[in-house]
Amino acid sequence: MKIAILGTGYVGLTTGICLSEIGHYVTCIDINEQKIKNLQVGISPIYEPGLDELLVKNALEERLFFTSSFSEGLESAEIIIIAVGTPQRNDGAADLSYLEGAAVHIGTHIQPNTVVVIKSTVPVGTNEYIKDLIQKNCPKEISFEIVSNPEFLRQGSAIKDTMKADRIVIGSENEQAREKIKEMYKPLNVPFIMTNIRSAEMIKYASNAFLASKISYINEISNLCEAVGANVEDVAKGMGKDFRIGEAFLHAGIGYGGSCFPKDVKALLYTAKLNGVNFGFLNEVIAINDHQHELLVEKALKRFGSLAGKKIALLGLSFKPETDDMREAPSIKISRALLSLGAKVSAYDPVAIENAKHILGETIEYSSSVKEAVNNADAVFIVTEWNEFKELDLKSVTESMKNPIIFDGRNCILDSKLRDCGTVEYYPIGKPSIL
Ligand code: NAD
Repeated sequence: MKIAILGTGYVGLTTGICLSEIGHYVTCIDINEQKIKNLQVGISPIYEPGLDELLVKNALEERLFFTSSFSEGLESAEIIIIAVGTPQRNDGAADLSYLEGAAVHIGTHIQPNTVVVIKSTVPVGTNEYIKDLIQKNCPKEISFEIVSNPEFLRQGSAIKDTMKADRIVIGSENEQAREKIKEMYKPLNVPFIMTNIRSAEMIKYASNAFLASKISYINEISNLCEAVGANVEDVAKGMGKDFRIGEAFLHAGIGYGGSCFPKDVKALLYTAKLNGVNFGFLNEVIAINDHQHELLVEKALKRFGSLAGKKIALLGLSFKPETDDMREAPSIKISRALLSLGAKVSAYDPVAIENAKHILGETIEYSSSVKEAVNNADAVFIVTEWNEFKELDLKSVTESMKNPIIFDGRNCILDSKLRDCGTVEYYPIGKPSIL
């Protein structure tokens, strides 16, 4: 099939690459000309495991193309997939301006009988709104269909999640359009959930808000565990074995971040408010998460009394491991809080430093290794659970610090490593500290 994708971010690029890998002819379009120029010579704008190899392979095999020309990309497409960003507006609602921009281009170039797919995360009713907008921008009335096909991939395992998805949700009011999108995905051999457009739109928000709630729930349990002397890891294991609860997303830590959970929870809350439904539960999910982001600084303040003049080594900047994405990363709030308390921050991350510089600028120091970051530090904060940090040589880390004090925001250091290390003061989340 000939497919055009608008947006070459984490979702659009991954989708484009995977669809070309299963045999389709895919043209990826982006308004960011520099991104397109780089992609045309095989340079990916994002860090995502396994993506670079498939990008080059499918481009060489001439199934994957990149352009910033909407006419070139859209006029020969039988399916157009929209994967542009839907960031958060100040009032919490989803900002649809990129989607509206895409609709104008699609309206100008769309050919009759094309199926337009909205993969971006959008509030209920948006597919209908965008369909109207595309129609309004068509030079003449043409027949086309719209399908809601929300995306569930996770950054850091985006290729695997796309090639082996748990489910593919297809929301449509038109039988032929639905079958066409099913056909497009058929080689993936993944279960389909067929529904109407509004339910498909809701499935995405309901899923993300549920996952965020699960995180806030275990985090609040971890705070209670600390207060009563229980161990949240044992508690989570004991809970997770119940198949009705499940083991995933029961890792206590310093809260969720990223480009999806924070904005999607707020957008769902906004939709509820707009429709007169009191979904106050989500306010609690957000409040718990905001507090978790402050936890390491609170613990350090309690330990030191004052953080003025202290050097804190931040290990991890990205919002989670295996990605360079800094959107809503807890490291941002933590760095700013430390700076406001007069501390010096020296940070290391395997891949996110360049993106971090766009947000934090020169307010903090960036190190090119763990060794450099922790040198002469008063304390280490583990902010992102990169494998590199799980495998740290704790002895050499603590030896080069001023004080051997670790605040582990992701509970990623094994007990056995702590035992072998000897002298260390260790403050995890939701379980007893080692003093
Ligand atoms: P992103 O910000 O990484 O990428 C969006 C891209 O769209 C950018 O490259 C931008 O230049 C481009 N763009 C904007 N307007 C355009 C236009 N009119 N035409 C062509 N390109 C245009 O975004 P993302 O993280 O890939 O997310 C995209 C959507 O998918 C969002 O709605 C997001 O909520 C959803 N989503 C994201 C993830 C994730 O893990 N990132 C997972 C599931 C769903």
